[in-house]
Amino acid sequence: MSEKRTEISELGEFGLIDHLNSTVIIKNPGTLKGIGDDAAVIEAGDHVKVVTTDLLLEGVHFDLSYAPLTHVGFKAVAVNISDVAAMNAIPKQITVSIALSNRFSVEAVDALYEGINAACEHYGVDLVGGDTTASRGGLVISVTAIGEAQKEQITYRTGAKVNDILCVTGDLGSALVGLQILEREKQVYLANPEMKPDLEKYTVVTGRQLRPDARMDIIHEMRELEIVPTSMMDISDGLASEIFHICKGSGVGATIYEDKLPIDKQTFDTAVELNLDPITCVLNGGEDYELLFTIDQKDFEKLEKHSDIHFIGHITKAEEGKYLVTKSGTAVQLKAQGWKHF
Ligand code: ADP
Ligand code: MG
Repeated sequence: MSEKRTEISELGEFGLIDHLNSTVIIKNPGTLKGIGDDAAVIEAGDHVKVVTTDLLLEGVHFDLSYAPLTHVGFKAVAVNISDVAAMNAIPKQITVSIALSNRFSVEAVDALYEGINAACEHYGVDLVGGDTTASRGGLVISVTAIGEAQKEQITYRTGAKVNDILCVTGDLGSALVGLQILEREKQVYLANPEMKPDLEKYTVVTGRQLRPDARMDIIHEMRELEIVPTSMMDISDGLASEIFHICKGSGVGATIYEDKLPIDKQTFDTAVELNLDPITCVLNGGEDYELLFTIDQKDFEKLEKHSDIHFIGHITKAEEGKYLVTKSGTAVQLKAQGWKHF
């Protein structure tokens, strides 16, 4: 009898996580949320803690031929802080684990930690531990972030209700466009090392790829305005894919409008230059680390004038599906292409 072999690509990343989750039994009543959101939520006396972790691998998540180690360090922290923000919590501590091959010197590790420490300063978190080990193949970094909130402040992917307004922060698609530029310039350089890469006119998009900033500023502002989003997550895999997560988690549908989708001018122009459709970059580009959230209509007035929050659509009943209304007024079904790891 031959043993059955299932390729991971048959399940995909999310299918694999669901598959693993189905084998997990939660034993402790203090575990308020396990697998399935941006972070786990754990009871801690009069408040709750959130815990999240992300793993970054050289050659998969970053390329040291164009990513400075300092930026890699900053980004490794920022992507975790982004998941804490997505729970509407305040980050407090991180741990950092690294695996290094003998290609790396003490000076290289110092450069990495310069970025990690800068991020700790920027987000007001303490580096409280980690692990260090040898690697056979390049640099591996794993960061775990711990945050705090009151239980009522926590925002899950499951709370969106019909007629809530869908909001996104900042602009989208820039990190993907930045990656394409960095890869293009790398190929130019490899073909002719005499050629200096011309990156000056692309600093917005390359900056968004190399050194993203988690939107803690928005979390603090919403606290001041006493707004708790009905649902929230960060945009790491592309807007369309994240809308699918909120719709699935909340049992709702959504309609978004092409003319409301935020895109930076440089991102738009660079996408066109690269023969990429700017709207596809906005919908399916990864690594933006902006926030996607829903608010009750009663909170709209408080955010209406905010210069960096965009109201891209609204929540509908599940049976109404997920649609993008184009500039010409046609409704097209949203597809969650997302960022495929497998
Ligand atoms: P994010 O993009 O917000 O970092 P992911 O898509 O990586 O979230 O993960 C979704 C959920 O699955 C999270 O709750 C995460 O903790 C969990 N998860 C991911 N990989 C594993 C794993 N190998 N074992 C257990 N839980 C996992
Ligand atoms: Mg997330």
